[in-house]
Amino acid sequence: MNFELEPKYLAIQQEARDLAQSIEPISAEADASSEIHPGILSALQTSGMSNLMVATEYGGRFEQVDPFAICLVREVFMATSSHLDSLFALQGIGSFAITKGGTREQRENWLPKIATAEILPALALTEPDAGSDLKAITTELVPSGNGYLLRGTKAFISNAGAAGYYIVFAKEEAGFSTVLVPADAPGVSSTPAPELIAPHVLGDVQFDDVALTDAARLGEPGKGLNLVLATLGVFRVSVAGAAVGLAQAALEEAVRHTRTRVQFGRPLARLGPVAQMLADSWTEIEMARLITYRAACYARTDPASTLHHSSMAKLAASEMASRVVDRCVQVMGRFGLVRDAKIERLYRQARPMRIYEGASEVLRLGISQKLTEEIT
Ligand SMILES: Cc1cc2nc3c(=O)[nH]c(=O)nc-3n(C[C@H](O)[C@H](O)[C@H](O)COP(=O)(O)OP(=O)(O)OC[C@H]3O[C@@H](n4cnc5c(N)ncnc54)[C@H](O)[C@@H]3O)c2cc1C
Repeated sequence: MNFELEPKYLAIQQEARDLAQSIEPISAEADASSEIHPGILSALQTSGMSNLMVATEYGGRFEQVDPFAICLVREVFMATSSHLDSLFALQGIGSFAITKGGTREQRENWLPKIATAEILPALALTEPDAGSDLKAITTELVPSGNGYLLRGTKAFISNAGAAGYYIVFAKEEAGFSTVLVPADAPGVSSTPAPELIAPHVLGDVQFDDVALTDAARLGEPGKGLNLVLATLGVFRVSVAGAAVGLAQAALEEAVRHTRTRVQFGRPLARLGPVAQMLADSWTEIEMARLITYRAACYARTDPASTLHHSSMAKLAASEMASRVVDRCVQVMGRFGLVRDAKIERLYRQARPMRIYEGASEVLRLGISQKLTEEIT
């Protein structure tokens, strides 16, 4: 067991830090926006870091997509800008089904543009009446002539309106299937989703009898859930990485503040309960980082059979981030409440992490099911 990062990961971490530092002056403005921020997009494109989301054969960095590298990058990005973190993460979340289940033609057509961030993707699973219960979706693919018609509405889709294509999870006679729909296909339209407490590029997408052929399919008919699970296997743990980065950034804000602000004749950081909150936070961040890095390393070799580790990491890190940022606001007193102060931004941004890519309660169900199967 070696707890040091290999040189290639140290280099990626440094690359991510350099990019994060370069966009720091526009991060507050970008994080307040629910539309793609051109400055952040352009910085991501120039950096070339989206190539971590694609295999070498299609313009990517490594032979295979590496969840550990993605995790490290998200940890750095989220500490500076949720907008940058989300743009980066979605390049993978919205393309992994092509990497995993696409034909050579589909891969050659789309993945090089993902690697350069020339195109933004989206993954459309959620619907107005189906969130955690994915099998309750009603969007359907129905036979028509030599092809199919896609009809239904997807809700709360990241990158909606800005994406070049949608990977859509739909019902079909054979079960659930996954199709790739170019955003400019006739019958596709999008509308903005409600504004969230932490702004995010989000929209609802309507598929109004969109005509598709077999060429739009990703994977076999009826096997769409496998591609969704494969995507989660690689990317759920990266949310944990982002949560660790957020918590670390919050703690650093709190330390800077409590080290210098004096009350009762001492810096706040030297007052017992404040010191305790800082110490507990640091300890919890380190615990979450360890479980996250381990799960990300497992996901590198066998994401499907180690999904429970990714779920544990996401559960532990997202819940930890909420606790830590809450304590940090507390020890900063009224200064922690100032609208658009960095700590206030982090406080709002921590909250959705416990809901998307598997709500904590749903993750607990999966983890406990695995546990009861494993113990003889
Ligand atoms: C910022 C953001 C970005 C998003 N981006 C995308 C995207 O790109 N693509 C996409 O498809 N979706 C996206 N979503 C939607 C997201 O995936 C859903 O919000 C998530 O799956 C939870 O579904 P829901 O919100 O409908 O909650 P519901 O399913 O209605 O659940 C509400 C709550 O009930 C509890 N609960 C639900 N089921 C159970 C259970 N079985 N046992 C115990 N408790 C349970 C949990 O506490 C849960 O939080 C995004 C959401 C957000 C907030």
